[in-house]
Amino acid sequence: MSTSQGALRLGIDLGGTKIAGIILDGEDAVRVERRVDTPRGDYRATVAAIAALVDALEQEAGVRGLPLGLGSPGSVVADTGRIRNANSQCLNGQPLPADLKTALGREVRIANDANCLALSEAHDGAAADAGCVFGIILGTGVGGGVVVDGQVLTGRNRLAGEWGHISLPWPTSAEFRQPPRCWCGLASCLEAWLSGPAMSADHVRRGGHELAAHDIVARAEDGERLAGATLRAWLQRVARALAMVVNLLDPDAIVVGGGLSQIRWLYSEVPKIWAEHVFASAIDTPLRAALHGDASGVRGAARLWPISAPEIDTR
Ligand SMILES: [Zn+2]
Repeated sequence: MSTSQGALRLGIDLGGTKIAGIILDGEDAVRVERRVDTPRGDYRATVAAIAALVDALEQEAGVRGLPLGLGSPGSVVADTGRIRNANSQCLNGQPLPADLKTALGREVRIANDANCLALSEAHDGAAADAGCVFGIILGTGVGGGVVVDGQVLTGRNRLAGEWGHISLPWPTSAEFRQPPRCWCGLASCLEAWLSGPAMSADHVRRGGHELAAHDIVARAEDGERLAGATLRAWLQRVARALAMVVNLLDPDAIVVGGGLSQIRWLYSEVPKIWAEHVFASAIDTPLRAALHGDASGVRGAARLWPISAPEIDTR
Protein backbone atom coordinates (compact mmCIF):
# COMPACT_ATOMS: atom_id res chain seq x y z
CA MET A 1 0.00 0.00 0.00
CA SER A 2 1.51 3.34 -1.06
CA THR A 3 -0.36 5.54 1.42
CA SER A 4 -0.35 4.79 5.15
CA GLN A 5 -3.35 5.50 7.36
CA GLY A 6 -1.38 8.54 8.58
CA ALA A 7 -2.26 10.49 5.43
CA LEU A 8 -5.94 9.55 5.32
CA ARG A 9 -8.52 12.12 6.38
CA LEU A 10 -12.26 11.85 6.74
CA GLY A 11 -14.63 14.67 5.82
CA ILE A 12 -18.35 15.05 6.42
CA ASP A 13 -20.55 17.70 4.81
CA LEU A 14 -23.77 18.24 6.73
CA GLY A 15 -26.26 19.67 4.25
CA GLY A 16 -29.94 20.51 4.53
CA THR A 17 -31.02 17.43 2.55
CA LYS A 18 -27.92 15.17 2.38
CA ILE A 19 -24.98 14.24 4.58
CA ALA A 20 -21.94 13.44 2.42
CA GLY A 21 -18.88 11.60 3.67
CA ILE A 22 -15.49 11.01 2.09
CA ILE A 23 -12.07 9.57 2.89
CA LEU A 24 -9.22 11.28 1.03
CA ASP A 25 -5.71 9.88 0.81
CA GLY A 26 -2.45 11.85 0.86
CA GLU A 27 -2.66 12.46 -2.89
CA ASP A 28 -6.20 13.93 -2.57
CA ALA A 29 -7.71 10.86 -4.22
CA VAL A 30 -11.06 9.58 -2.95
CA ARG A 31 -10.75 6.25 -1.11
CA VAL A 32 -14.41 5.85 -0.26
CA GLU A 33 -17.48 8.05 -0.35
CA ARG A 34 -21.09 7.76 0.76
CA ARG A 35 -24.20 9.90 1.13
CA VAL A 36 -27.23 9.58 3.34
CA ASP A 37 -30.38 11.66 3.76
CA THR A 38 -30.30 14.31 6.49
CA PRO A 39 -32.92 13.59 9.17
CA ARG A 40 -34.61 16.96 8.72
CA GLY A 41 -35.42 18.98 11.80
CA ASP A 42 -34.16 16.28 14.20
CA TYR A 43 -30.89 17.09 15.97
CA ARG A 44 -30.44 13.76 17.83
CA ALA A 45 -31.08 11.76 14.67
CA THR A 46 -28.62 13.99 12.79
CA VAL A 47 -25.82 13.24 15.27
CA ALA A 48 -26.64 9.51 15.04
CA ALA A 49 -26.67 9.63 11.22
CA ILE A 50 -23.23 11.33 11.15
CA ALA A 51 -21.80 8.72 13.55
CA ALA A 52 -23.23 5.84 11.47
CA LEU A 53 -21.84 7.37 8.27
CA VAL A 54 -18.35 7.74 9.78
CA ASP A 55 -18.52 4.11 10.92
CA ALA A 56 -19.58 2.88 7.50
CA LEU A 57 -16.84 4.83 5.69
CA GLU A 58 -14.11 3.58 8.02
CA GLN A 59 -15.36 0.00 7.78
CA GLU A 60 -15.32 0.16 4.00
CA ALA A 61 -11.78 1.57 4.00
CA GLY A 62 -10.62 -0.88 6.68
CA VAL A 63 -9.40 1.85 9.06
CA ARG A 64 -10.45 3.30 12.43
CA GLY A 65 -10.29 6.66 14.19
CA LEU A 66 -9.30 8.90 11.26
CA PRO A 67 -8.92 12.68 11.72
CA LEU A 68 -12.41 14.01 11.12
CA GLY A 69 -13.53 17.38 9.79
CA LEU A 70 -17.14 18.46 9.46
CA GLY A 71 -18.60 21.18 7.27
CA SER A 72 -21.78 22.51 8.82
CA PRO A 73 -24.11 25.44 8.30
CA GLY A 74 -23.55 28.22 10.82
CA SER A 75 -20.60 28.34 13.18
CA VAL A 76 -19.53 27.16 16.63
CA VAL A 77 -19.61 29.84 19.34
CA ALA A 78 -16.15 29.93 20.90
CA ASP A 79 -17.05 30.11 24.60
CA THR A 80 -20.11 27.80 24.62
CA GLY A 81 -19.18 25.25 21.95
CA ARG A 82 -22.72 25.52 20.58
CA ILE A 83 -23.86 26.04 16.98
CA ARG A 84 -25.40 29.34 15.94
CA ASN A 85 -26.55 30.93 12.68
CA ALA A 86 -27.39 27.62 10.95
CA ASN A 87 -30.18 27.66 8.39
CA SER A 88 -30.84 24.03 9.43
CA GLN A 89 -32.30 25.54 12.54
CA CYS A 90 -32.50 22.35 14.66
CA LEU A 91 -28.70 22.66 15.02
CA ASN A 92 -28.81 26.11 16.63
CA GLY A 93 -27.98 26.12 20.34
CA GLN A 94 -26.80 22.50 20.24
CA PRO A 95 -23.34 21.38 21.47
CA LEU A 96 -22.52 19.58 18.21
CA PRO A 97 -18.72 19.33 18.72
CA ALA A 98 -19.17 17.75 22.19
CA ASP A 99 -21.96 15.41 21.04
CA LEU A 100 -19.90 14.20 18.07
CA LYS A 101 -16.87 13.69 20.31
CA THR A 102 -18.99 11.50 22.60
CA ALA A 103 -20.48 9.58 19.68
CA LEU A 104 -17.21 9.09 17.79
CA GLY A 105 -14.51 9.10 20.46
CA ARG A 106 -12.39 11.78 18.85
CA GLU A 107 -12.04 15.54 18.43
CA VAL A 108 -14.01 16.78 15.41
CA ARG A 109 -12.99 20.00 13.67
CA ILE A 110 -16.04 21.92 12.52
CA ALA A 111 -16.10 24.76 10.00
CA ASN A 112 -18.81 26.59 8.15
CA ASP A 113 -19.78 24.81 4.91
CA ALA A 114 -18.86 27.80 2.72
CA ASN A 115 -15.43 27.94 4.39
CA CYS A 116 -14.97 24.26 3.50
CA LEU A 117 -15.94 24.97 -0.11
CA ALA A 118 -13.45 27.87 -0.32
CA LEU A 119 -10.72 25.74 1.28
CA SER A 120 -11.25 22.88 -1.16
CA GLU A 121 -11.36 25.09 -4.25
CA ALA A 122 -8.30 27.08 -3.12
CA HIS A 123 -6.38 23.83 -2.60
CA ASP A 124 -6.96 21.92 -5.84
CA GLY A 125 -10.08 23.38 -7.42
CA ALA A 126 -11.22 26.33 -9.51
CA ALA A 127 -9.11 28.82 -7.50
CA ALA A 128 -5.93 26.77 -7.08
CA ASP A 129 -3.86 29.66 -8.48
CA ALA A 130 -5.39 32.31 -6.19
CA GLY A 131 -3.99 33.72 -2.93
CA CYS A 132 -7.27 35.16 -1.63
CA VAL A 133 -10.42 33.20 -2.44
CA PHE A 134 -14.02 34.13 -1.70
CA GLY A 135 -16.24 31.04 -1.87
CA ILE A 136 -20.01 31.32 -1.96
CA ILE A 137 -22.78 28.77 -1.71
CA LEU A 138 -25.95 29.48 -3.63
CA GLY A 139 -28.43 26.73 -2.82
CA THR A 140 -31.15 26.10 -0.26
CA GLY A 141 -29.13 28.51 1.86
CA VAL A 142 -26.60 31.20 1.00
CA GLY A 143 -23.20 31.65 2.61
CA GLY A 144 -19.66 32.79 2.04
CA GLY A 145 -16.17 31.94 3.20
CA VAL A 146 -12.72 33.45 2.87
CA VAL A 147 -9.45 31.58 2.39
CA VAL A 148 -6.15 33.47 2.38
CA ASP A 149 -2.93 31.68 1.40
CA GLY A 150 -4.52 28.29 1.95
CA GLN A 151 -5.95 29.09 5.41
CA VAL A 152 -9.57 29.73 6.36
CA LEU A 153 -10.01 33.27 7.67
CA THR A 154 -12.26 32.77 10.70
CA GLY A 155 -12.19 36.26 12.21
CA ARG A 156 -12.34 37.47 15.82
CA ASN A 157 -16.02 36.53 16.20
CA ARG A 158 -15.88 33.61 13.75
CA LEU A 159 -18.01 35.64 11.37
CA ALA A 160 -15.59 36.31 8.49
CA GLY A 161 -17.32 35.82 5.15
CA GLU A 162 -20.88 35.73 6.59
CA TRP A 163 -22.16 37.04 3.30
CA GLY A 164 -25.63 35.47 3.48
CA HIS A 165 -26.89 37.78 6.20
CA ILE A 166 -25.74 41.11 4.86
CA SER A 167 -28.46 43.35 3.46
CA LEU A 168 -28.82 43.46 -0.34
CA PRO A 169 -26.76 46.47 -1.49
CA TRP A 170 -27.88 49.19 -3.89
CA PRO A 171 -31.56 48.16 -3.61
CA THR A 172 -34.03 49.32 -6.23
CA SER A 173 -37.01 51.27 -4.90
CA ALA A 174 -39.21 48.15 -5.24
CA GLU A 175 -36.69 46.04 -3.34
CA PHE A 176 -36.42 48.73 -0.69
CA ARG A 177 -40.21 48.92 -0.23
CA GLN A 178 -40.80 45.15 0.04
CA PRO A 179 -37.78 43.45 1.58
CA PRO A 180 -38.29 39.68 2.13
CA ARG A 181 -37.97 38.51 5.72
CA CYS A 182 -35.10 36.19 6.53
CA TRP A 183 -35.37 33.25 8.96
CA CYS A 184 -32.63 34.97 11.04
CA GLY A 185 -35.02 37.74 12.04
CA LEU A 186 -33.67 40.46 9.75
CA ALA A 187 -35.13 41.62 6.46
CA SER A 188 -33.51 41.83 3.03
CA CYS A 189 -30.60 39.45 3.84
CA LEU A 190 -28.79 38.13 0.77
CA GLU A 191 -30.03 34.64 1.67
CA ALA A 192 -33.60 35.94 1.48
CA TRP A 193 -32.93 37.22 -2.07
CA LEU A 194 -30.48 34.74 -3.57
CA SER A 195 -31.27 31.21 -2.31
CA GLY A 196 -33.23 28.77 -4.48
CA PRO A 197 -36.39 29.21 -2.35
CA ALA A 198 -35.86 32.99 -2.54
CA MET A 199 -35.82 32.88 -6.35
CA SER A 200 -39.04 30.83 -6.26
CA ALA A 201 -40.67 33.34 -3.89
CA ASP A 202 -39.60 36.24 -6.11
CA HIS A 203 -41.20 34.53 -9.11
CA VAL A 204 -44.49 34.19 -7.19
CA ARG A 205 -44.30 37.90 -6.19
CA ARG A 206 -44.12 38.72 -9.91
CA GLY A 207 -47.31 36.76 -10.48
CA GLY A 208 -45.72 33.47 -11.56
CA HIS A 209 -46.51 29.93 -10.46
CA GLU A 210 -44.65 28.36 -7.58
CA LEU A 211 -41.66 26.74 -9.30
CA ALA A 212 -38.27 25.42 -8.22
CA ALA A 213 -35.33 27.64 -9.19
CA HIS A 214 -34.07 25.24 -11.88
CA ASP A 215 -37.56 25.19 -13.50
CA ILE A 216 -37.60 28.99 -13.59
CA VAL A 217 -34.20 28.99 -15.31
CA ALA A 218 -35.34 26.32 -17.81
CA ARG A 219 -38.45 28.35 -18.66
CA ALA A 220 -36.39 31.52 -19.02
CA GLU A 221 -34.12 29.69 -21.46
CA ASP A 222 -37.25 28.60 -23.38
CA GLY A 223 -38.11 32.28 -23.80
CA GLU A 224 -40.87 32.59 -21.18
CA ARG A 225 -41.03 36.30 -20.40
CA LEU A 226 -41.90 36.23 -16.70
CA ALA A 227 -39.32 33.54 -15.89
CA GLY A 228 -36.75 35.60 -17.82
CA ALA A 229 -37.53 38.64 -15.67
CA THR A 230 -37.13 36.59 -12.47
CA LEU A 231 -33.80 35.19 -13.63
CA ARG A 232 -32.53 38.63 -14.71
CA ALA A 233 -33.46 40.16 -11.35
CA TRP A 234 -31.66 37.32 -9.53
CA LEU A 235 -28.51 37.79 -11.64
CA GLN A 236 -28.64 41.54 -10.95
CA ARG A 237 -28.79 40.89 -7.21
CA VAL A 238 -25.95 38.36 -7.27
CA ALA A 239 -23.85 40.91 -9.16
CA ARG A 240 -24.51 43.70 -6.66
CA ALA A 241 -23.85 41.36 -3.73
CA LEU A 242 -20.50 40.35 -5.25
CA ALA A 243 -19.54 43.92 -6.26
CA MET A 244 -19.69 44.70 -2.53
CA VAL A 245 -17.29 41.80 -1.86
CA VAL A 246 -14.88 43.02 -4.54
CA ASN A 247 -14.89 46.51 -3.03
CA LEU A 248 -14.29 45.18 0.49
CA LEU A 249 -11.94 42.24 -0.02
CA ASP A 250 -10.88 42.33 -3.70
CA PRO A 251 -10.27 38.54 -3.79
CA ASP A 252 -8.12 36.94 -6.49
CA ALA A 253 -11.01 34.65 -7.41
CA ILE A 254 -14.65 34.06 -6.49
CA VAL A 255 -15.85 30.45 -6.60
CA VAL A 256 -19.49 29.41 -6.61
CA GLY A 257 -20.88 26.17 -5.17
CA GLY A 258 -24.35 24.92 -4.28
CA GLY A 259 -27.20 23.83 -6.54
CA LEU A 260 -27.60 27.23 -8.23
CA SER A 261 -23.91 27.29 -9.24
CA GLN A 262 -25.01 25.28 -12.28
CA ILE A 263 -26.79 28.33 -13.72
CA ARG A 264 -24.41 29.14 -16.55
CA TRP A 265 -25.70 32.72 -16.87
CA LEU A 266 -23.93 33.55 -13.62
CA TYR A 267 -20.53 33.35 -15.28
CA SER A 268 -21.41 35.24 -18.45
CA GLU A 269 -23.75 37.92 -17.06
CA VAL A 270 -22.70 38.74 -13.49
CA PRO A 271 -19.24 40.10 -14.42
CA LYS A 272 -20.93 42.44 -16.93
CA ILE A 273 -23.34 43.75 -14.29
CA TRP A 274 -20.96 44.06 -11.32
CA ALA A 275 -18.82 46.47 -13.34
CA GLU A 276 -21.55 49.10 -12.75
CA HIS A 277 -21.10 48.88 -8.98
CA VAL A 278 -17.42 48.28 -8.21
CA PHE A 279 -15.31 51.31 -7.36
CA ALA A 280 -13.04 51.00 -10.39
CA SER A 281 -13.45 51.52 -14.11
CA ALA A 282 -12.52 47.91 -14.91
CA ILE A 283 -11.95 44.74 -12.91
CA ASP A 284 -10.89 41.27 -13.98
CA THR A 285 -11.89 39.12 -10.99
CA PRO A 286 -12.53 35.54 -12.17
CA LEU A 287 -15.97 34.17 -11.23
CA ARG A 288 -15.89 30.39 -11.52
CA ALA A 289 -18.05 27.37 -10.74
CA ALA A 290 -16.60 25.06 -8.10
CA LEU A 291 -14.44 22.50 -9.89
CA HIS A 292 -15.39 19.73 -7.48
CA GLY A 293 -19.08 20.66 -7.67
CA ASP A 294 -21.16 19.04 -4.94
CA ALA A 295 -18.08 17.35 -3.49
CA SER A 296 -16.25 20.60 -2.70
CA GLY A 297 -17.69 21.00 0.79
CA VAL A 298 -16.86 17.47 1.84
CA ARG A 299 -13.34 17.65 0.35
CA GLY A 300 -12.73 20.89 2.25
CA ALA A 301 -14.03 19.31 5.47
CA ALA A 302 -11.50 16.50 5.09
CA ARG A 303 -8.79 19.17 4.86
CA LEU A 304 -9.60 20.77 8.20
CA TRP A 305 -6.87 18.57 9.70
CA PRO A 306 -3.37 18.86 8.22
CA ILE A 307 -1.89 15.70 6.74
CA SER A 308 0.22 14.01 9.39
CA ALA A 309 3.69 12.78 8.49
CA PRO A 310 3.64 9.43 6.70
CA GLU A 311 4.41 6.45 8.87
CA ILE A 312 7.83 5.29 7.75
CA ASP A 313 9.24 2.05 9.07
CA THR A 314 12.85 2.91 10.01
CA ARG A 315 13.73 -0.36 11.72
ZN1 LIG B 1 -30.66 36.68 7.58
